[in-house]
Amino acid sequence: MDRLIYLDHAATTATRPEVVEAMLPYFTESFGNPSSVYGFSNKSKDAIATARDTIAKSLNADSKDIYFTAGGSESDNWALKETARVYKDKGRHIITSAIEHHAILHTCEFLEKEGFEVTYVGVDENGIIKMDELKAAIRPDTILISVMFANNEIGTIQPIKEIGALAKENGILFHTDAVQAYGQLPIDVNELNIDMLSASGHKLNGPKGIGFLYIRKGIKIRNLIHGGGQERARRAGTENVPGIVGLGKAVEIAVDTMNERTAKEIELRDYLVERVLAEIPYTRLNGDRFNRLPNNANFSFQFIEGESLLIMLDMAGICGSSGSACTSGSLDPSHVLLGIGLPHEIAHGSLRLTLGDENTKEEIDYVIENLKEIVQKLRNMSPLYEDYMRTNNR
Ligand SMILES: *Cc1c(COP(=O)(O)O)cnc(C)c1O
Repeated sequence: MDRLIYLDHAATTATRPEVVEAMLPYFTESFGNPSSVYGFSNKSKDAIATARDTIAKSLNADSKDIYFTAGGSESDNWALKETARVYKDKGRHIITSAIEHHAILHTCEFLEKEGFEVTYVGVDENGIIKMDELKAAIRPDTILISVMFANNEIGTIQPIKEIGALAKENGILFHTDAVQAYGQLPIDVNELNIDMLSASGHKLNGPKGIGFLYIRKGIKIRNLIHGGGQERARRAGTENVPGIVGLGKAVEIAVDTMNERTAKEIELRDYLVERVLAEIPYTRLNGDRFNRLPNNANFSFQFIEGESLLIMLDMAGICGSSGSACTSGSLDPSHVLLGIGLPHEIAHGSLRLTLGDENTKEEIDYVIENLKEIVQKLRNMSPLYEDYMRTNNR
């Protein structure tokens, strides 16, 4: 069996061939340092400007407010740490949600050690932030709210417009980790009152190790890397020109194809969800049924262990995930699944399947058939299942 069905697009995606093609000349012919004065380096400089414009346009932002970074984690770290350190004289209180990516949560924990206070607002059973709790958490010394646009594990989309309005009303900075949403959902930073936004290339069919932070003009943030004048001196270091070009191209394609691509993904996702829920008993869908990313499905199968399920799917050539890539390998259930109120034993039996452009209905059929067989096999080996069946069939 050597087929490979990749259903882990929330972890990373393949770089599109058109993106690679756009990048290649900037490794070889056009390798000039964008900061040099001779005409030869203008190609690199212009390519960066074009990518920056493409990205700015995709968010209805100003090109000057886009800062290239090495990815989502770096953008998240920069946004939180370096605004907190500037605004600490105004206050030391930060609000975030309980189901953020670890790039946010671990940064918040770090800031707590530096003397900041963080409120982790809870979510409802579908993973949507509790707006009344968020409102109640706001204090005179709150300087920053950071809530992700869409969750990487269960795909739930947050009420970003409401949160942006609330932050603005209260004179609080608003950052969103849009790494999963960017390229899948339309985003307008002005309409949504977003002050800072993180995104990453490799989550939208661009290269790894490149991303950006949008920083609205006028926001005070400390420079991330001191050195040369690159990125308006806020993040020094010779630019990753091929990476930036690749990111720009990936964004251009993501924007151009968004409607068609996501409509196809929603159709496939709904087909997958409906069949799994109908054909595999004792199964639940995690996250909001409709208010979720077009490509995300997350299931819990009662009486089984997610890690064994992943291994058996792998043997059938299917790549899935038990949660976020960063937590797999550890035996603690995901903080997101616990955050939506799942008991440990249900959270343990979870599977995230995230679709991409290239997935087909035929692949999904193959996955469903295998999933049915594997889940039954694992349940047949499960003492919990045996107990349950014995008690309930008497
Ligand atoms: C992947 C991801 C990140 C980290 O991005 P990298 O580019 O891998 O550093 C941050 N937040 C979310 C929601 C993600 O899905």
